[in-house]
Amino acid sequence: MKNIPFYSEGLKFSCKRCSSCCRHDSGFVFISENDLENLISALKINKKNVIDTYCRWVTDWKGDEVLSLKEKFNKDCILWDNGCLVYKKRPAQCITFPFWESILSSSKAWETAASSCPGMNEGKLHNKIIIEENIELRSSQPIINKNREKSLNSRYTGRSL
Ligand code: SF4
Repeated sequence: MKNIPFYSEGLKFSCKRCSSCCRHDSGFVFISENDLENLISALKINKKNVIDTYCRWVTDWKGDEVLSLKEKFNKDCILWDNGCLVYKKRPAQCITFPFWESILSSSKAWETAASSCPGMNEGKLHNKIIIEENIELRSSQPIINKNREKSLNSRYTGRSL
């Protein structure tokens, strides 16, 4: 029998716009092709400039080099300046927080995340369908992976990212 997830009755979350998830702490904001298109449109600069100015290559848990947003020297997100500079076009990772697979892996993981987010366990109740739509949104948009890009580019265009 399939396990019933701890969130089957829904989870409460309403962002309080405190910005603590965007500031002061080091972390990755992984970028998909769709996110990159949204950043190009929001920042009105080309793909190369978005990547060079706002992104960095980082090593993920599998050892792959993947694209993430940069951080400022003080660990704030590069796109935070008295608020999110691309809020309406922000990456899927930001849109779907806190309904990430890792945070939903157990009630303990959820409560650990909630200890640093005042919006979790408060406000609007999100049902299981909505929660799982958020998981699906992220998993449907693969993170840009340098090795995969290199092999695609050399196979089809001979150019690198
Ligand atoms: S820490 Fe939570 S409440 Fe604060 S901005 Fe991030 S998601 Fe919203």
